[in-house]
Amino acid sequence: MNKMSKFSHITKVHPCYNEKLHDKIGRVHLPVAPKCNIACRFCKRSVGEDCCEHRPGVSYRILKPEDVEEYLKKMLEKIPNLKVVGIAGPGDSLFNKETFETLEIINDKFPDLIKCLSTNGLLLPKYAKKLADLDVKTVTVTVNAIDPKILKDIVDWVYHNKKVYKGEEGAKILIENQIDGIKKAYDEDLIIKVNTVLIPEINMDHIIEIAKTLKDYVFLQNIIPLIPMYKMRNLRRPTCMEMSSVRDKCEEYIRQFRACQQCRADAAGLLSEEKILREKGLNLDIYDLKHF
Ligand code: SF4
Ligand code: SF4
Ligand code: SF4
Repeated sequence: MNKMSKFSHITKVHPCYNEKLHDKIGRVHLPVAPKCNIACRFCKRSVGEDCCEHRPGVSYRILKPEDVEEYLKKMLEKIPNLKVVGIAGPGDSLFNKETFETLEIINDKFPDLIKCLSTNGLLLPKYAKKLADLDVKTVTVTVNAIDPKILKDIVDWVYHNKKVYKGEEGAKILIENQIDGIKKAYDEDLIIKVNTVLIPEINMDHIIEIAKTLKDYVFLQNIIPLIPMYKMRNLRRPTCMEMSSVRDKCEEYIRQFRACQQCRADAAGLLSEEKILREKGLNLDIYDLKHF
């Protein structure tokens, strides 16, 4: 689409939008958003106010907005070429007021960093304009199915407007809000990437429908393999052949990103340097939840 070319000043420097830069430009995630408003069956979390549950042997820490300035200052000293700061959970970014407080702090103290955010999209219709007003440039929405009959097998429940909706009913609400939110975000000139978890037994043949439905609003699609855990621990990962076949089919509709290594919610630096940062004790020790 023509509109996409006007995004090039961002997509040229954002490592998650440009495979060639993926390991050259630094990005840092601020894990300020612990709570989530949906229950993906591959995501281990407890039900209730605090959805963060740590897995055996892995501790976690959530960053508080008041600590963001100091943390980012340290990161800017240590990470070469740090250009992007992202909020990727570990719950749903938009379901946590700390996300918005953090974005204001970044605007105030680090106005040159590109602000990025990932979300399940349930609250995107409500917040698309607010994100644009806060100068967020890029938004990743995870869309794993656009048919409630399929999504009900991926998401157990959806908490919306103070009510819990289960099964197909919840899935329908989530899908409607994701599509509506993506359209609103597009109208606000946010650059949208869609992440899709490929779960062979559930959505493999359906992912192309996601690409067809969203093609006019989305800059990029990032199809990532299921990491079998929690209620999906008995399902299998897709093979490389399956991954590339689905990506090739979807590429007819949306450009595909193929370099993702599924970062943690507290990821920092260049991908090649993450281990070094961890050794230097610079990463927060947060539980190992991927930002699907
Ligand atoms: Fe990249 Fe997602 Fe992080 Fe944004 S939120 S910097 S797209 S990994
Ligand atoms: Fe929430 Fe993300 Fe976990 Fe799904 S994967 S339940 S959206 S934190
Ligand atoms: Fe790159 Fe994927 Fe990590 Fe984003 S989540 S920085 S695309 S590896």
